Amino acid sequence: MKIVLLAPPGSGKGTQAKMLADKYGIPHISTGDILRDNIRAKTELGVEVGSYMEKGELVPDGVLVEMIRGRLLHPDYASGFLLDGYPRTLPQADELSKILNERRNRLDAVLYIDVPDDVLIKRLSGRRMCTCRASYHLLFNPPERDGICDHCGKKLYQRDDDREEAIKTRLEIYKQRTQPLISYYAKEGIMLTVNGAAEISEVFTRICRLFDD
Ligand code: AMP
Repeated sequence: MKIVLLAPPGSGKGTQAKMLADKYGIPHISTGDILRDNIRAKTELGVEVGSYMEKGELVPDGVLVEMIRGRLLHPDYASGFLLDGYPRTLPQADELSKILNERRNRLDAVLYIDVPDDVLIKRLSGRRMCTCRASYHLLFNPPERDGICDHCGKKLYQRDDDREEAIKTRLEIYKQRTQPLISYYAKEGIMLTVNGAAEISEVFTRICRLFDD
């Protein structure tokens, strides 16, 4: 299965992607996670992208295209992948089609998680993360011990781009640059839409129903 997850920030995209990848055994590629790992490791790429991400802006297309091309042409992803966070712009979508065409492949589905803005803002501002990739919410999914990861015991942190100013920027950019991809993929007839304004497990059940049908 070759799937793209297309969803606004705060839609639960990363959480659902991990659950889907586990259930269907598809390799999960999260561009946000890859970039954050690079920032933490202070690589050349991390230094290049850090200031964009902190402010909630998109990293330039050229950087992402190169990163994704390198990964998708790797044999590990030949039989399938779940792309979480790519493409986010029309040029990135065109590049993805080109990469797949080179291998005579195409996407099987693009999953759009639909969530209203007020819910997105509430989810993003209460989100807390761990470097082990676990994610919590202060109200909806708090850790057992305040500020400490249930899985690995490390201290939780708030992503710079989950602060108020950056959230506004991310939502505006999403509308301008990413939302047009919905009609782009609708024309290809591969869009699946799920209502994401529900609890994590309920959204997951809805998504699985779409895939299993
Ligand atoms: P995410 O973890 O998917 O919310 O991504 C976090 C941040 O990483 C985004 O706000 C962007 O700054 C950057 N990023 C991730 N994927 C992309 C992409 N496809 N194009 C541009 N920037 C990206």
